[in-house]
Amino acid sequence: MSDRGHSRHTRTATAPASASSFRRCPECAEPFKAAHPRQLFCSNEHKTAFHNRATVRGRALTPIVMAARITRDGSRGDVETGKEARREGQQMMDRWAREDREAGRLSMVDYMRERRRIGY
Ligand SMILES: [Zn+2]
Repeated sequence: MSDRGHSRHTRTATAPASASSFRRCPECAEPFKAAHPRQLFCSNEHKTAFHNRATVRGRALTPIVMAARITRDGSRGDVETGKEARREGQQMMDRWAREDREAGRLSMVDYMRERRRIGY
C-alpha cells in the first residue's frame, strides 16, 4: 500500500516539473521511473490492459450509477429501480475492488491520488 500523503503538499494544478518521476504502475503496482511527466504506466501493455478493463467496467456501471443518482439512490421518482440500481452499483464496485486487490493492482484510491499528483 503506497502512502504518499506528503506529496499532496507539493502538488499544484498543473504537473510541476519537479514532480517525482518515480511511480507505481496502476496495473502491476511495480515501481518504475517515468520517461515522460504524464506517464502513469510502466508499459503500453499495462496501460492498454488497464484501459480495456476500465472501458468494460464503465459500460456496465454507467447506466446503473446514473439511475441511482437520478433517483437519489431510490428516494425520489422510481424508488424501486433507484434502490436496485444503488445495490447493484455498490456490489459491482465492491467486486471490482476485490478483483483489483487479488490481482495485485493499485486500488482506485491510489490510482486517483497518482493521477492528481501528476496533474490530471
Ligand atoms: Zn505495470
